[in-house]
Amino acid sequence: MSHYTTALQNPLFKTISKASQNLNLESYVIGGYVRDFLLKRGEAKDIDIVAVGSGIDLAEEVSKLLPGKPKVSVFKTYGTAMLKSGGVELEFVGARKESYSEESRNPAVENGTLEDDQNRRDFTINALALSLSNDNFGELLDPFNGVEDLQKKIIRTPLNPDITYSDDPLRMLRAIRFATQLDFIIEKDSLDAIIRNAERIKIISKERVVDELNKILLSEVPSKGFALLHKTGLLPFILPELVALQGIDEKEGQTHKDNFWHTLEVVDNISKATDDVWLRWAALLHDIGKAPTKRFDKKLGWTFHTHEFVGAKMVYKLFKRLKMPLNDKMKFVQKMVLMSSRPIVLASEVTDSAVRRLIFDAGEYVEDLMTLCEADITTKNPKKFNKYHANFQLVRDKIVEVEERDQVRNFQPPVSGEEIMETFNLKPSREIGLIKDAIKEAILEGDIPNEYEAAREFMLKKGKEIGLVPLTPKGKMKIGSKK
Ligand code: ATP
Repeated sequence: MSHYTTALQNPLFKTISKASQNLNLESYVIGGYVRDFLLKRGEAKDIDIVAVGSGIDLAEEVSKLLPGKPKVSVFKTYGTAMLKSGGVELEFVGARKESYSEESRNPAVENGTLEDDQNRRDFTINALALSLSNDNFGELLDPFNGVEDLQKKIIRTPLNPDITYSDDPLRMLRAIRFATQLDFIIEKDSLDAIIRNAERIKIISKERVVDELNKILLSEVPSKGFALLHKTGLLPFILPELVALQGIDEKEGQTHKDNFWHTLEVVDNISKATDDVWLRWAALLHDIGKAPTKRFDKKLGWTFHTHEFVGAKMVYKLFKRLKMPLNDKMKFVQKMVLMSSRPIVLASEVTDSAVRRLIFDAGEYVEDLMTLCEADITTKNPKKFNKYHANFQLVRDKIVEVEERDQVRNFQPPVSGEEIMETFNLKPSREIGLIKDAIKEAILEGDIPNEYEAAREFMLKKGKEIGLVPLTPKGKMKIGSKK
């Protein structure tokens, strides 16, 4: 029998032990906490406790014994309870036996033994339990050789994988997520069962699916997860837009790169540079417009004209379908996709005005855009690789230089529409837009500096050109003094 009392040094465990004794029931730490301790992944902040008896009663009793008697949140429908103490979240559940039906991943539940509870766990490495009872405190209960699987780095289900995955198809995504996060292999029987059951992923709520996708994306090497989603046939049910990128067509001896595998490389590249899940989403989706825009032209070969624009529109549909937030995060991803080729075009000729436009259009996200473009370099030719990176470095340097001088980021034209209206005594009209655009263009082109006086002078000149007459100097003074 192995004992792991070192895993239970947090005084909370002794308190739970005492509470269990008071209620005359057995309790165990189970799941992720034990797994992560054995993997030396650092102490988890979420701790799952299973009670052979009522998890809710145990939570209440633990609370009574803790200083300040922390509030217990009870989820009656699930028979679970939660409390927070010292930055740790304790989740209590009564040991249970589950039976599933075809249509739902919510099982019928009845009280059970610890063994029943371990049987219902998804993977052997997640079924490890440490006893909190006084007489065998810290004893490891490992009925499915989970420790061995941890050592062999294997994801395996405790029971028949076909039943495990069919009962709750979310487990298929969890298997792939754990394999990606932990760099484990999914055991062959399990992998085959996932392939057989892939279609059942349809019954899982979009929110759950996205939770797992985010965890895969936030792993060190996300491509591992997406390659598994692809291999198991899950991807068409989740992100068909990516599947559509797979493959290489040939016409008249001309081919294009496989944009699916290219995309996965880009995601891995960007993951070395950022932990921002939305920027990683942008990398994942940056080429999705390429499938619907792919054409073959006798002169030009393979083209993907307007794929950035089409891709940005697809981002909205994809987020909506997956019930992801349709807020500024989605807009950020759209912007990255829309602008994903801009720095590439620019890198061949880094002019001040082109860089000013880039900063103006990308605004506060210009660095993120550069990070995406650098990640997009997947050429295996070292000469080209170095050249492209050097070009982007030039763009980055120029961005700093232009920014310092011209302050184009969060650019607001120095002369407002209101001032144009007052100067020429205009009602809201097309002319105001014309003048405002002309000022913006002049600044971005570098014809005038990004300053009030120069912009005002330019406005007067432009107004005259289109036949407008400014009001008396008095009006002008009044407006000028506002600044
Ligand atoms: P992480 O916190 O990294 O997601 P975890 O293992 O703690 O890892 P949770 O989702 O918090 O994951 O689940 C806690 C435990 O509950 C798991 O370790 C596992 O034993 C069990 N579990 C969770 N979801 C399922 C499921 N869908 N089917 C079976 N058991 C599950």
